[in-house]
Amino acid sequence: MSLPTNGHPDPSPYLSSDAGERIAADPIFEGDVDTGRTVVVCGAGGFIGGHLVADLLRQGYPEVRAVDIKPPSHWFQKFDGADNRSLDLREKENCYRALENADHVYNLAADMGGMGFIENNKALCMLSVTINTHLLMAARDNDVDRYFYSSSACVYNQELQSTSDVEPLSEEDAYPALAEDGYGWEKLFSERMCRHFREDFDLTTRVARYHNVYGPFGTYDGGREKAPAALTRKAIAAKLSGSGDTVIWGDGTQTRSFMYVDDCVKGTQKIMHSDITDPINLGSDELVTINELVDVIEAAVGVDLEREYDLTKPQGVDGRNSDNTKIQRELGWEPPTALRDGMEVTADWIEQQMRRHAEQETTSRFALAH
Ligand code: NAD
Repeated sequence: MSLPTNGHPDPSPYLSSDAGERIAADPIFEGDVDTGRTVVVCGAGGFIGGHLVADLLRQGYPEVRAVDIKPPSHWFQKFDGADNRSLDLREKENCYRALENADHVYNLAADMGGMGFIENNKALCMLSVTINTHLLMAARDNDVDRYFYSSSACVYNQELQSTSDVEPLSEEDAYPALAEDGYGWEKLFSERMCRHFREDFDLTTRVARYHNVYGPFGTYDGGREKAPAALTRKAIAAKLSGSGDTVIWGDGTQTRSFMYVDDCVKGTQKIMHSDITDPINLGSDELVTINELVDVIEAAVGVDLEREYDLTKPQGVDGRNSDNTKIQRELGWEPPTALRDGMEVTADWIEQQMRRHAEQETTSRFALAH
């Protein structure tokens, strides 16, 4: 199997099932940083947060505090080298505890998921506003040096995303505001909170607008998964069962771009350590239809699917792509991983997980029967 061509000398240690091996690998971000700082990652039990903690440990930060509402046993990735804490960051006092003596704070904590989740849980998505608001207050009062907020392409004006042949979204397209209902409005409001805390309280804030992130060690079932992982799971299930059938939400012509998680981890740290004060896109600009994404997944999984289209399911905006002019200008960099390379690794990881779960189920059924 070929591995992603995103500049790693040997990417396999990043995927090891052994957490120690994963952090022994070379760092993804190779900036000139002061590793004597205390870094807090909020939402560390989640998909991107877990990868970020791993990369901070790889760089040699001895004080990495990893915080999530879930107990560490439920985190996607957990590292003994970090100070792992379970705290509900909607609560103000927990934010103050989480950020005690903190120098750098990455806020990736949010109650979110794929289209199926955010369409049906708008109030829950909006309640994440309490997380960022209380974290900003705690950051200001604890004299935090730098604060990063993970926003989303869902802040962009919906009216600019009504054709599949969409113009890439550039940063100023967020206004006049008509964000994705619920989740997108929460992100837009929280972006502005970061701006006002910077302007009024002199807190150094950085904001990236992530466009669909995918990769290993993320959710691929249970209702919160996003399109790449959901479609990959369905393709693998079809391969393993021999049926070949798969259901696609919408008519498959809607377009998106997808960023490999290592690029997200690198870009996040580049933006955190930059002078870029306004929100900036962090996404791939390789635009594909959902049908083309399924083609890529078929090749990665090694299956030919019989596609059915369910038009009753939420499919989001018709088209969305990232305009990378600003990140190119500011950083001389943009997410480089090709979709087919990243999806090959992701599909491989999801298949390993699904096979392992199937084996565990068979073993426990056998144990029950005897
Ligand atoms: P994720 O759901 O895997 O991780 C978020 C983590 O936040 C979870 O582990 C969750 O338990 C934690 N969390 C939720 N409520 C909390 C609370 N009250 N206190 C403490 N922790 C809490 O999501 P992700 O994909 O890793 O996304 C990270 C961030 O990036 C989120 O803010 C998300 O909105 C943003 N984002 C992600 C994508 C993407 O494609 N994954 C796209 C745009 C923006």
